[in-house]
Amino acid sequence: MRVVLLGPPGAGKGSLAGVLKEKYHLAHISTGDMLREEIKKGTPLGAEIKALITKGALVSDELVTKLVEQRFLHDPDLKKGYMLDGFPRTAKQARDLDAILAKAQMPLDFALNMDADPDLILKRLTGRRVCRKCGALFHMTNKPPLKNGVCDLCGGELYQRTDDNEETIKARMQVYHESTQPIIDHYAKQHKLKKLDGNLETADLAQALAAMLK
Ligand code: ADP
Ligand code: ZN
Repeated sequence: MRVVLLGPPGAGKGSLAGVLKEKYHLAHISTGDMLREEIKKGTPLGAEIKALITKGALVSDELVTKLVEQRFLHDPDLKKGYMLDGFPRTAKQARDLDAILAKAQMPLDFALNMDADPDLILKRLTGRRVCRKCGALFHMTNKPPLKNGVCDLCGGELYQRTDDNEETIKARMQVYHESTQPIIDHYAKQHKLKKLDGNLETADLAQALAAMLK
């Protein structure tokens, strides 16, 4: 299966990605994760990226598209199927992705759009905690770890992303509406658009996904 996950921040793309990894063994291509890896390296490029992410602004199309292209050229894991999470985010990225996939001969099966209510999105993002080591997602009230600040899965340290604060979340939502929402139409025109309700909690979401795939 080859899919693109679409939807605003906090709509549940990350949770769905977890399900797709566990149950359907898809490779996870998250441009957000790839960019955060670059920040960790402490390079000048990483510092530039960090400044943009912390503001809730987008990183340049050129840079992000190159990261994705490299994965399609060099990552053998993608043969088992892939999900793109957080890419494409602009009309230009969507067009460039079409070309990358055609060249790699790994065309998309469908794009999966998710949306959720704004107040739910805000609660999800402000309460979100992420494992520094394995990337597992937790939530202060919806899915607290067994031990405060510690990942249940690997014992890694949990942290809050610098962009998961109310002010930056507002900026990210604005960017989403301006730049990313229009590309839903790109996939509708290709007759590849499917939808899931992002208001669902993970277990129900997994069920809705299974029903959709039948
Ligand atoms: P979320 O979906 O929760 O907003 P991501 O981890 O996908 O989070 O992205 C975090 C940030 O990384 C974005 O706000 C943006 O600054 C940057 N980013 C991620 N993917 C892209 C992309 N495809 N194009 C431009 N910037 C991106
Ligand atoms: Zn962990």
